[in-house]
Amino acid sequence: MTIKLKREEAIIIIQYYYLLNIDIEQRGNILVANGEEVVDKDDNWLVNEIYKVENNSIIRNNYFFSKLVRDEYLEFLIEKFYKSKVKIISNEKLNIEELHSCVCCGYKISFKRNFHNICPVCYWQDDMSGERDYSSANRSTLIDYRLKYENNKDMSNEIYLKYYKI
Ligand SMILES: [Zn+2]
Repeated sequence: MTIKLKREEAIIIIQYYYLLNIDIEQRGNILVANGEEVVDKDDNWLVNEIYKVENNSIIRNNYFFSKLVRDEYLEFLIEKFYKSKVKIISNEKLNIEELHSCVCCGYKISFKRNFHNICPVCYWQDDMSGERDYSSANRSTLIDYRLKYENNKDMSNEIYLKYYKI
């Protein structure tokens, strides 16, 4: 039997998985990134500070899934974490064609084109350079970078489930 979930329920379930399963270092790093003082002067973790109940919401909220993330990816994470088959019932449909595609790999990575944006799929940094221009940010031309990326990509990586591509 497949359990049906609202998208917001699926996200909460995933966030609680992370809350209960990440290690002290991952927890500490999230708290530091959020301005919490969880290290002493010798850079040791302050365990009691890290595991304060007040920090739970910071940890959970660190695992944020924008509307760009496909329902199928959230279903995949729940199956991976909990071994439960779920189906997300979304009432809101994204207009995928209007999303911005990475100029290199073609995955729909943002709502609009942002200068200096680094693609989470292929890591091309969008510096608006043309196909044959040398891009110093990427140490390559776009054409060469794409070719290298296409030849080396591993389609079993879950990142390919995360974003749309037309
Ligand atoms: Zn890309």
